[in-house]
Amino acid sequence: APPETRFKRVMLKISGEALMGDQGYGLHPPTVERIAREVKSVHDLGVEICMVIGGGNVFRGLAGSAQGMERTTADYMGMLATVMNALAVQSALEKLGVFTRVISAIRMDEVAEPYIRRRAVRHLEKKRVCIFAAGTGNPYFTTDTAATLRANEMACEAIFKGTKVDGVYDKDPLTNPDAKRFERVTYDEVLAQHLKVMDASAIALARDNNLPIIVFSLDEPGGFKGILAGNGTYTTVHG
Ligand code: UDP
Repeated sequence: APPETRFKRVMLKISGEALMGDQGYGLHPPTVERIAREVKSVHDLGVEICMVIGGGNVFRGLAGSAQGMERTTADYMGMLATVMNALAVQSALEKLGVFTRVISAIRMDEVAEPYIRRRAVRHLEKKRVCIFAAGTGNPYFTTDTAATLRANEMACEAIFKGTKVDGVYDKDPLTNPDAKRFERVTYDEVLAQHLKVMDASAIALARDNNLPIIVFSLDEPGGFKGILAGNGTYTTVHG
């Protein structure tokens, strides 16, 4: 691994909302570019990078089904939203000279590669950033589960989950000023205390494969690169 970090291959999970900036919806190009620069700074270290991007800035299956849409149809719409986000991040990364592949769990060969595990591994070995789109390809899942699944399949050493806050708290720090941040927390504590990290299926999948989850803020000074080097504040979810 490069001297600035002990990691050789990582998964970066960001929500769709991380791409919308201060807007209530969609994509905010300067924010997408900022995230792309963060990714490039880590890529420049020689770290192999997988990414999963959510779709919540465009569409969430649960919201659609609450409005009367059939759940599975709404979930497919959510998965398609993640493809748009993936293409936006791909475009921003390639503008910075970083080679990428968008790999979709739902076939759409004109737009993205289909997911073939060995092929994706090869891309990583060639230092292409792999952006895994369309979630797991299945309704009733989330992109957190997709990130955990792909991180396991790609043998990533950890999932880095970029959020609005710098770790896992005992209650929502945005509404509770006395909320306490955990330095480290176990998978079972996350599940038992319903801590907001990822949904339960994603946590269980990480736990069963001993895949650490590092929760950090996308606004952390030093950024994603700093977190990878172990600087800044974050929470590690582990066994
Ligand atoms: N989704 C799905 N299966 C998956 C991943 C995602 O059905 O494997 C759908 C689901 O409807 C979800 C939407 O895609 O609400 C967007 O993903 P997510 O909510 O995880 O996005 P984020 O909150 O990370 O922006």
